[in-house]
Amino acid sequence: MSDHYVKVKVQLEQMKSSGEGVEKEEADMIEDEVLVASPPASVSPIPASCTPAAQREPSKTSVTCRNQSKSRSKLGKDEKNTGTKQDSVPALQGTIVASNANSGKPVNRKDNEQQTLQIKGTGKMLQGKTETNGNAVPIHLPEDNKVDPHNKEDANKVAKRRKPVTVDTFKAKTSLEALKLSIRQLKWKEFPVGRRSACDIYWHGVSFHDNDNIISGQVNKFPGMIEMLRKINLTRAVRTMQELFPEEYNFYPRSWILPEEYQLFSTQISLAKDGDVSQKPTFIIKPDGGSQGDGIYLIRDPGDLRVIAGSHTKQSVVQEYIHKPLLIDKLKFDIRLYVLVKSLEPLEIYIAKEGLSRFCTEPYQEPSQKNLSHVFMHLTNYSLNVQSGNFVHSDSLSSGSKRTFSSVLYRLASKGVDIKKVWSDIISLVIKTIIALVPELKVYYQADIPPGKPGPTCFQILGFDILLMKNLKPVLLEVNANPSMRIEHEQEVSPGVFEYVPSPVDEEVKVGVIRDTLRLMDPAQKKSLTSYPEHQQEELSGSPVRGAGEEGRVLPSMCLKQVFPKYTKQFSYLRTVERITALFLRFLGVKGNMRLGPTGFRTFIRNCKLSNSHFSMATVDILYIDVTRRWASMLPGSREAGMGLQAFVEAFFYLAQRRFKSLPLREQVVSLLEVCEAQLENQGRGDPGGALPEDSTSSTRRSVSCGRTQPGRTVHPHHVSTSTPGQALSAPQLCSPATPRRASSQDYRLHQRLRPTHKGNVEN
Ligand code: ADP
Repeated sequence: MSDHYVKVKVQLEQMKSSGEGVEKEEADMIEDEVLVASPPASVSPIPASCTPAAQREPSKTSVTCRNQSKSRSKLGKDEKNTGTKQDSVPALQGTIVASNANSGKPVNRKDNEQQTLQIKGTGKMLQGKTETNGNAVPIHLPEDNKVDPHNKEDANKVAKRRKPVTVDTFKAKTSLEALKLSIRQLKWKEFPVGRRSACDIYWHGVSFHDNDNIISGQVNKFPGMIEMLRKINLTRAVRTMQELFPEEYNFYPRSWILPEEYQLFSTQISLAKDGDVSQKPTFIIKPDGGSQGDGIYLIRDPGDLRVIAGSHTKQSVVQEYIHKPLLIDKLKFDIRLYVLVKSLEPLEIYIAKEGLSRFCTEPYQEPSQKNLSHVFMHLTNYSLNVQSGNFVHSDSLSSGSKRTFSSVLYRLASKGVDIKKVWSDIISLVIKTIIALVPELKVYYQADIPPGKPGPTCFQILGFDILLMKNLKPVLLEVNANPSMRIEHEQEVSPGVFEYVPSPVDEEVKVGVIRDTLRLMDPAQKKSLTSYPEHQQEELSGSPVRGAGEEGRVLPSMCLKQVFPKYTKQFSYLRTVERITALFLRFLGVKGNMRLGPTGFRTFIRNCKLSNSHFSMATVDILYIDVTRRWASMLPGSREAGMGLQAFVEAFFYLAQRRFKSLPLREQVVSLLEVCEAQLENQGRGDPGGALPEDSTSSTRRSVSCGRTQPGRTVHPHHVSTSTPGQALSAPQLCSPATPRRASSQDYRLHQRLRPTHKGNVEN
């Protein structure tokens, strides 16, 4: 070995251990995250007795399938009332758990008296899980730690000393089966009908508000997540990011919000067609808040839109249809990935290494006028395709109409596809999407759990639906706030007689996701992990779990992989809107509001010194009214008056454009942020020039004085700061002239807050 070679090798080692450089992290991202290391044959064998593969005859095939969610939500309701008294937890034998949790569970089907619905126990549920998810993780605790979890005696001592973690599963709904199994594996304690004293973890089936009486512990839903993931809000959030970072956010298909953007949509499409007559794009219409393919249809001409019918038009998103998806066996498929948002502040994201691939049941053809209504060809929803006679329920994880994502990746790898790149692109898509959602989620969070008031902390498992294009580029279809966690599927065993039978693929993926989410949320684990350096935390989270009689058993290694803050360096420059949100929250105060009143907006302008003789406070009021009104007309369902975050962001962009005319939008916004942050920092240091204006409310005083972390302050390499603090804003040309007096008289009314209603379906 030459000296030179040794030198280079040593340098490389040093670079690795110092963790320097974005490039290295990018390389790591690719190296670390690939989940397919072995063929699907290595995936745990699930006994054939576990899942009889059976094809279900389509009972009610329909093109739009409007009735599906109704019957399903009925089932959900039934499950809500089936909390049984908790059985004493049987001791775990190795990794095999026998579960009869379902036996005798009453289920009503009032809508179809002739059908008998029996529910079978899930039988042998968890065989081979250790093998599937990897081997037990070796743990290296620091030397000064007195307990060695590898030492069986020590581990037993720890297990005995600790009380089991308590989980309230009363509101778990369709997640119940997978949750019960996970709790058993962890040897934690389940409270199926709730508990008088507080639990450590509350598992809700739908929303944060499933139980509004929780003042401590952790809830598996964030306030506002359902609202944020409705199709229109997701589109708006991504679109704001597309304005700032068009290239980074090009994974979301071009979309228009209906009915408000119908005209724009029509015009843009006709212009595109005029430019190129050969262009015959297809569009997919998705009702806002829809799920399971409900109400979705394809069109080729804006005139074919069904939603434009009188004044009561349905809120929807119309989206460019991806007409060249990647096919396997000539079938279109999508990917369901489970993502855990462990915390918003600091932002922590985990991705499940295993996901599901859901296949269409009719061979794909590019859209034509003839095949637009063929849902089994164009839509990959399980709930639709399961009604097709072609749907294949399979015992295997790598065949049938629902497979593991790893088996698909393995198949692609065998054809020479660079799956590391695919996986790394998917991780990037997930992180960017969550970065787009976080700003508004923080507003909801502060409104429901104001700082300083008792309340739970939150985490949430999200279901990302991703399509791979023919060129392997991942495209975001949607994100589900309540991804189905069912591990059984309905099967018609004889005409009119249905049974629930275990679904090995669902069980394989979903039990791991829930169990490992719980492990990460273990209150003791959380506390002890934070005392270790970040790089060790993930490793340590595979440590023996606590629980009486656990005997130091080591669980499978985590199926959830941390991706944020792990990849902070690559993505933090995208957190610009979060910095604007920090300003918004600061001037909103901590009274539980989600909308900024005119006084709060004036205070923001004054404290950040954005007004002067060319940009008077009267003009500020006009800006406030103008933007707020526009957003109120776009959000007709909204019952709260005032300036919401999206309107504030729009006003902020406007101010930035006025002030830094010559720059691209992204730099304008960052420059204005720097001006504002510098002003507020000065005030924090007691700069007399930064004193609060005379009309500031006491709540604003309080919120201004409390420092908040400002995400994404790492300056993007391309960003050049050009802010000139003394530079004045020139007067805007606004369309709604209103006197400042009128604005302040509205102050009280604008502050009247009606809490939004929280509705949401559990996806099945
Ligand atoms: P839902 O919440 O009703 O399931 P989705 O947005 O997930 O709505 O769309 C349903 C299905 O339609 C997806 O699973 C996918 O197969 C197909 N789909 C959705 N958007 C597109 C698109 N832009 N291009 C191609 N196919 C799409």
